[in-house]
Amino acid sequence: MKKYVIALDQGTTSSRAVAFDRNANIIGMRSQEFKQYYPNPGWVEHDPFDILNSQLKALKALLSDYRIKPEEIDSIGVTNQRETIIVWDKDTGKPIYNAIVWQCRRTAPICEQLKKDGHEKLIREKTGLVIDAYFSGTKIKWILDNVVGARELAVKGQLIAGTVDTWLIYHLTNKKCHVTDASNASRTMLYNIIENRWDQELLSILDIPMNILPEVVENSRIIGEYQLNNVAIPISGIAGDQQAALFGQNCVSVGDAKNTYGTGCFILLNIGNQPLQSENGLLTTIAWNYKGKTTYAFEGSVFNAGSSIQWLRDEMKLIDNASESEACALKVNDTNDTYFVPAFTGLGTPYWDMYARGTIVGLTRGTNRNHLIRATLESIAFQCMDVIECMEKESGTKINYLRVDGGASANNFLMQFQADITGLEVIRPKINEITALGAAFLAGLATGFFTDIEHLKNLNEIDRKFNCNTNEFFRENRKSKWHKAIEKSKGWA
Ligand code: ADP
Repeated sequence: MKKYVIALDQGTTSSRAVAFDRNANIIGMRSQEFKQYYPNPGWVEHDPFDILNSQLKALKALLSDYRIKPEEIDSIGVTNQRETIIVWDKDTGKPIYNAIVWQCRRTAPICEQLKKDGHEKLIREKTGLVIDAYFSGTKIKWILDNVVGARELAVKGQLIAGTVDTWLIYHLTNKKCHVTDASNASRTMLYNIIENRWDQELLSILDIPMNILPEVVENSRIIGEYQLNNVAIPISGIAGDQQAALFGQNCVSVGDAKNTYGTGCFILLNIGNQPLQSENGLLTTIAWNYKGKTTYAFEGSVFNAGSSIQWLRDEMKLIDNASESEACALKVNDTNDTYFVPAFTGLGTPYWDMYARGTIVGLTRGTNRNHLIRATLESIAFQCMDVIECMEKESGTKINYLRVDGGASANNFLMQFQADITGLEVIRPKINEITALGAAFLAGLATGFFTDIEHLKNLNEIDRKFNCNTNEFFRENRKSKWHKAIEKSKGWA
């Protein structure tokens, strides 16, 4: 009897394995951290075998600690840190270089050159992305340019490449499957999101041979098998972490949006089957290919969200832990007209000012610790509001609701203020492993463990809904003050 779907959630600092039952309840979870390498300033690498082994260790711990037998596992879904890239030998399965992580800035000069050569418009139109070292394409180019003999081996067909999903599945299937999905592919800057295929013109610009890239498969489909104690378990779901979260949040209709409140915030809006283009730096990305249909999403991010709470805790010593911020904020009725723009590393969507810096305005002799803490929480919601408004404007779509997850979504004050300032209904699910849930949903839909997408909505129970308790006058007044504060923070550095 198949009782469980397992999600492998391979993140930037840890690998998790999560078991879900047929009702999408979490049966167990295990995680394993692994080492980060910083060989030069701005460079970030992982050992690909650390990624694989930590993932297998988490899986084995999950199975033994919760007494899950291989024959009870219906299927496996994989979700992963996106953009991180690995190049390896197709026969030995050994990497020729460490994984170059999404955060790594080493290819910034390659990106500058691409811009100088006038490729920005082309790349934007074909991939939905801005040219940035964040995405995988220039990282593959760097490995082929810098590892001795790599390009020759790649051209000969000896080397293959992939994002972390591809790497894991290659090894889980004993080197049988070299695959990825469109949600990961569309973060490489090599994938044409309109035509849904690797783009020869972009590959030529970056001098990357097409044959090293994986086959792009549907997000929910049996891809291969993982042999565990002589039991063959289907691998039947893949998605990059943010898209997996969108799916796990049941944001399957146009206008459904989710926000993950972590160190930064990742907001994704389902924009349906048309790859709309943004004028204000929102990314367009493939959310999933499901049953022959492509669903697209707008993606916007806030650089500093939970990190501003960490700053209150670690640098300002105003709180002992992040959750204390909620009680402090509720000790006062308002921020005493204080606004904090935590632009520690500049401002992203829709301002795009890398010279903006953190700014606190409106202080009076009466401003106290709680006012400042409240203003910090409000700043997270204000920044997300700016992204959400930009998304609505550029998609021409009214957002239906905002589903939330991530560490700071536990903060009730923040969630209520998010609803109050956007006018949106904010919905927090009971399950906090939403990314893993998305991968499990995709895997279980392919095998029939879960019946259909509509049914999944009933399984995903709601912890709490936050409804807007403010009027237009309140919102406009607060917004205009916030935007005044934003103006003060711009161009400082
Ligand atoms: P990440 O995956 O980016 O590490 P998490 O989803 O684990 O992030 O969330 C951690 C972040 O959320 C931290 O920056 C922390 O400051 C913030 N955070 C956690 N709990 C709360 C809370 N109750 N209120 C406000 N912020 C919180």
